[in-house]
Amino acid sequence: MRAQLLDGRTTSKTMLDSVAVGAAEFLRTRGRAPVLATILVGDDPASHTYVRMKVNRCKQVGITSRRIDLTESTSTGDLVRVITELSSDPDVDGILLQHPVPPGVDERAAFEAINPAKDVDGVTRASFAAMAFSADGFSSATPGGIIALLDAYEIPLAGSRAVVVGRSAILGKPVGMLLLERDATVTFCHSKTGDLENHIREADIVVAAAGVPDLIKGDWIKLGAVVVDAGYVDNRGDVEFESAAARSAWITPVPGGVGPMTIATLLAQTLAAAEKRTIVK
Ligand code: NAP
Repeated sequence: MRAQLLDGRTTSKTMLDSVAVGAAEFLRTRGRAPVLATILVGDDPASHTYVRMKVNRCKQVGITSRRIDLTESTSTGDLVRVITELSSDPDVDGILLQHPVPPGVDERAAFEAINPAKDVDGVTRASFAAMAFSADGFSSATPGGIIALLDAYEIPLAGSRAVVVGRSAILGKPVGMLLLERDATVTFCHSKTGDLENHIREADIVVAAAGVPDLIKGDWIKLGAVVVDAGYVDNRGDVEFESAAARSAWITPVPGGVGPMTIATLLAQTLAAAEKRTIVK
């Protein structure tokens, strides 16, 4: 392997240490810890694992989590009601609805019930628009975490050719917008893109966010490129790791790259939301 690792575990630990300092100061000055409400709907084992990891991290850094688990048969109306209550609850600073929700629930309607001031996972249309217009607001947590990881390793973005594989509203599109904001020239690829290989061959920065294991072959990677693999299915990423690491300059491991940065960004934004919403006593 010639690539150096973009190590999300180490970088996220630095971020979380700083969140812990901020959360302790928040407790001292406001008389309570920041509060993150997590909502999990249904029985998806991976979603249970993600929520458990987020709740554990909250505990480690001094953020109180309020965990709400709802059954698979929860209706859109009931979910929206729960989120609307949390949105107006003065004791809740941030709200995370674990994605995906069961089929039959209107995920967009549920996301839109989140008060943008508490949208610490960056999933509402208001947060999306804030990212697009470079306005005040919260980043989608995974895209924000990816940019923070690239910044931690001082990867130059301005003027680079970035190819994002995936165009979901919570990952592909917003990470492309954030790269554009940093003056990269951005191409989006998706399931209807006919010549994925040729796009990847031209890319200085590849952000893989498709959820298709080994979709991107290592020998497509341009020599010296930067590879960020956000894909995560059964412990596997979207990029063939060994062969891509032999050609790239920097690469994220899977796991241990993007995942830990997502959680750290979520908690940093929870602290920021709490600080914005409250006054020092
Ligand atoms: P999603 O909503 O299913 O979107 C997947 C995207 O990939 C779609 O835009 C789809 O194109 C595109 N795609 C699918 N097959 C493709 C192919 N063969 N060639 C090119 N593009 C293809 O998924 P998501 O929520 O964005 O998540 C994507 C991946 O990131 C998943 O593996 C997920 O587990 C992972 N993820 C990781 C984290 C983390 O913290 N590490 C957080 C969130 C998500 P169309 O639009 O044309 O369908």
